[in-house]
Amino acid sequence: MITVTGKPVCAGVAFGPVFVFSREESTIKRRHIESSEDEILRFENARKKAIEELDILYNKAIAEVGEANAMIFRIHQMMLDDLDYIESVRNIITDQLLNAETAVGQTCDSFVQLFRSMDDSYMRERSADVKDVSERLIQILSGKNKNAIVSDEPSIIIADDLAPSETVQFDKEKILAFVTEGGSTNSHTAILARMMNIPAMIGAEGSLRTDFDGKAAIVDGFTGTIYIEPDEKTIAKMTAKKREIEKQTALLEKLRGEKSVTKDGQRIELCANIGNVIDVASVLKNDAEGIGLFRSEFLYLESRNYPSEDVQFGVYKEVLSKMENKRVIIRTLDIGADKQANYFHLPREENPALGLRAIRFCLQHPDIFKTQLRALYRASVFGHLSIMFPMIVSEWEVLKVLEIIKEVKGELASEGISYAKNVELGCMIETPAAALISDILSKHLDFFSIGTNDLTQYTLAADRQNPDIDSFRNDRHIAILRLINTVTENAHKNGAWVGICGELAADVELTELFLAIGIDELSVIPSLILPLRKKIAETDVSAIKDRVLSKYLM
Ligand code: PEP
Ligand code: MG
Repeated sequence: MITVTGKPVCAGVAFGPVFVFSREESTIKRRHIESSEDEILRFENARKKAIEELDILYNKAIAEVGEANAMIFRIHQMMLDDLDYIESVRNIITDQLLNAETAVGQTCDSFVQLFRSMDDSYMRERSADVKDVSERLIQILSGKNKNAIVSDEPSIIIADDLAPSETVQFDKEKILAFVTEGGSTNSHTAILARMMNIPAMIGAEGSLRTDFDGKAAIVDGFTGTIYIEPDEKTIAKMTAKKREIEKQTALLEKLRGEKSVTKDGQRIELCANIGNVIDVASVLKNDAEGIGLFRSEFLYLESRNYPSEDVQFGVYKEVLSKMENKRVIIRTLDIGADKQANYFHLPREENPALGLRAIRFCLQHPDIFKTQLRALYRASVFGHLSIMFPMIVSEWEVLKVLEIIKEVKGELASEGISYAKNVELGCMIETPAAALISDILSKHLDFFSIGTNDLTQYTLAADRQNPDIDSFRNDRHIAILRLINTVTENAHKNGAWVGICGELAADVELTELFLAIGIDELSVIPSLILPLRKKIAETDVSAIKDRVLSKYLM
């Protein structure tokens, strides 16, 4: 038996044969050409075909992993429309009279180098996307089809790394697990694996040996381990682990339709985070009590221009109607930092996470903000809507937002358009400043939702996108937990309620603490609703309160 370890990316246990994925990288034949016009036309036709292929992949990904995750193929399409990229290919063809394949290859190399030299880890990771897109173009130009998979029987896929387009092209029925040597936890491939709910691990150095192909293996996605040709003892251990997971999943089904209540009767609401209307199906399937965070910026990110008031109205109305009267918290546009769309023409910034993003952008562009608010209020009559605002730092920002909302409501009323009168308003607590003035903010608002992803990066001064500082980014840092406690105390004093919608909400080790603090709502990815409800039902808050408060806050 050979054991290889890496980083776990998606939990689960898989048994099956290994399929070693090797891509056929195109070897580019460098050729001098006679007519640059004909060659540019070949390039343009290939570009069009690549955009069409990406449309097909986008639609396949939507069906399998949801719109938010399918976005990567829209980003690839945008790369193919990038003027600098196109100009570079054209220049190489015209100035050096080289064939389109060579021009794309050279352009790809210089873009990859450029991305790799960037400080921003998100941008560095985009170099894989440039390669993926360029490889697609070269395959089309050279008349080869990009290999889809591959093996007839369901297999554990081992690869050096996987591009998102390769991941999504696999037939989901034929994949038991993903194991890659490279990759990062934040990579799109890792996200896709999680959304597909397939056991996966990355960073499994030494796992890619071609002679593993066809051998029996077991992947433990909990620990990030692959066992090649496992011995009897390991097979028995992993079989028991798999059975236990199946048993737990069956038990969870019993909690469907139940409220989320502790043993001693404390109620907490369990809601789901979504990025798009398609995700609502999984919210309902997993029995969430509402939507605690609808990241509305995905609507903007997947468009090629600002979505109109009517388009937004349509989406919000559909989500609210589908959720019937369950509460839906829609967060207003959180653009900027790692969420960029070309048509916003956001300035290049030294520190985008500390720059013109989220509410700051909206307050500087009241027209864009008002369009969204009008759409939200128009949709409010179709369900139970709450609205919240991202990246608040100061009281004046909240007062300004409330003033704009008053204007919007006044305009709608004068146009004879009805809107719900009971729309609750809240803000995200994502900055230490907001947490520390939550007593002041709570006087103006109905609720807070703590965004621990950003709250952690801003409190610990640790970029959430940078894998190199993983060991300095402790999501359970006492500073974060104390801030959560302070916010809850401040809110409750002023009659506001508090939820958590950052990733920390799903940390079952902290559920007892959140209950002891008196958090009113937790919002997590839909598949975690039932496991969390189970944890809550098993907790007796009065029995553990003093112990956990002193364990985590002192
Ligand atoms: C957060 O910051 O915790 C949050 C929920 O918002 P996002 O992850 O979209 O920045
Ligand atoms: Mg955030």
